[in-house]
Amino acid sequence: MQRYKNYVHGQPLSNQSGEVFEVINPATAEVIYQVEVADEFIQNAAIQSAKQGFAKWSAMSGMERQRVLNKAVQLLREHNDELAKIEVLDTGKPWQEASVVDVVTGADSIEFFAGLAPSIEGTQQDLAGDFYYTRKEPLGICAGIGAWNYPLQIACWKSAPALACGNAMIFKPSEETPLGAIKLAEIFTQAGLPDGVFNVVQGDANVGQWLTHNPEIAKVSFTGEVSTGKKVMQASASSLKSVTMELGGKSPLIIFDDADIEQAVSAAMLGNFYTQGEICTNATRVFVHQDVYPVFVKRLLERIENNIIAGDPMDPKVNFGALISKKHHQLVLDYIRSGLEEGASLLTGGEAIQPHSAPHGYFVAPTVFADCRDQMKIVREEIFGPVMCLLTFSDEQEVIERANNTDYGLAAGVFTQNIQTAHRVIHQLQAGICWINAYGASPAEMPVGGYKLSGIGRENGMETLQAYTQTKSVYVGLNPLESPF
Ligand code: NAD
Repeated sequence: MQRYKNYVHGQPLSNQSGEVFEVINPATAEVIYQVEVADEFIQNAAIQSAKQGFAKWSAMSGMERQRVLNKAVQLLREHNDELAKIEVLDTGKPWQEASVVDVVTGADSIEFFAGLAPSIEGTQQDLAGDFYYTRKEPLGICAGIGAWNYPLQIACWKSAPALACGNAMIFKPSEETPLGAIKLAEIFTQAGLPDGVFNVVQGDANVGQWLTHNPEIAKVSFTGEVSTGKKVMQASASSLKSVTMELGGKSPLIIFDDADIEQAVSAAMLGNFYTQGEICTNATRVFVHQDVYPVFVKRLLERIENNIIAGDPMDPKVNFGALISKKHHQLVLDYIRSGLEEGASLLTGGEAIQPHSAPHGYFVAPTVFADCRDQMKIVREEIFGPVMCLLTFSDEQEVIERANNTDYGLAAGVFTQNIQTAHRVIHQLQAGICWINAYGASPAEMPVGGYKLSGIGRENGMETLQAYTQTKSVYVGLNPLESPF
């Protein structure tokens, strides 16, 4: 069986403990390869290597960094299909998605930040003869810790701004999906990135905790659950590391009575069934105006029945894949049971499925609950699976209050033909990523991140440069120094 090592200083590095973990293809429930755990030897080597990498990389000009990163973008695009296949086998998501989204959006983010690298600059101001100037300096060694739903994309979104600003990064992918990050590291090396600037360490929470406690690491960028995010932030406080937190959500999609219903149904389906529901920004609370509710539900059920194809995720016709693990599969089914127990009406789905082409995979049917109430567990908690909760409303202010009545604040969507309604409502929603007559698109130019418990800081967009640089102010005295002593 194939066994992958950690990636340190431009090459694979064997651990000394011999400890490995196994990775399972969620669509077949079979072990597909093993990965060596980052033991103490690897951890020390990763830090020493990152220090050397940082010294070299941070001394290069923005133009030089841009060229290396753009080469990596080119290689990512050239290897799109090979990388997309890795993502399909690791995550269970459809090839139909991975081949056009995961690598593409990862490469886009690196291209975006590569373009900004030469423009990172300070300011200067005259002060009656004296003057000061500022330098935008990198932080040092940053840690990236990823979730399993978009493994390669997350590794790209974290490394892109970090590296563009001249930092080194030690990245730990999720232990469920460890391979994409290794491939990214290989591509960076091939593109000419100095050894040690992007190291990959493998393992579970223990390796994550080592990163968050390590005083040599200046910043942690984390993607995962709120509860883990809190632990990561607490550990990071031990050496006052700055943090970026991309956490969970329970996002509302509000469909007004003047909405284009076909488009609104598309958004609700994308926001609940794309990547079989395993997307942080999912619109899991779909508020539909009561006047259009019957027609909305009719079209939704017809389109689920006719258009969703579950099966072997490598089949290009399949658009609905397997959930990440047996444990997560059970968790989603438990939520469905809780919805039934609390009195929600099941309109479709609600059970595990065994598609012909992937009978052993961790599939759950696309599920829609009606008659949901705001207090139900399925309406309050993040399920991270293909479970849509339908809620009705009649009054704009009422729906805004209900949409905001959650500790999360990651995303929100509004469908209406009225531009005043659209902006008025969006401006009152407590969410960091909002869509009007759209859902889910996340281009590299647009900053993304959460309000409230959904996160701290942003990924992508110009403002992310601030999170990976620190400002040094330099006061220069040209006048004689005044002193009372
Ligand atoms: P998770 O919190 O279980 O794990 C995330 C990562 O943290 C993994 O690499 C894991 O090994 C590591 N980890 C676990 N415990 C740790 C600890 N104590 N210290 C340091 N690292 C630790 O999350 P998951 O199940 O992998 O991912 C699903 C979650 O991610 C969902 O809540 C989803 O909403 C969220 N997510 C958010 C975004 C976003 O951009 N906001 C994107 C994708 C996923």
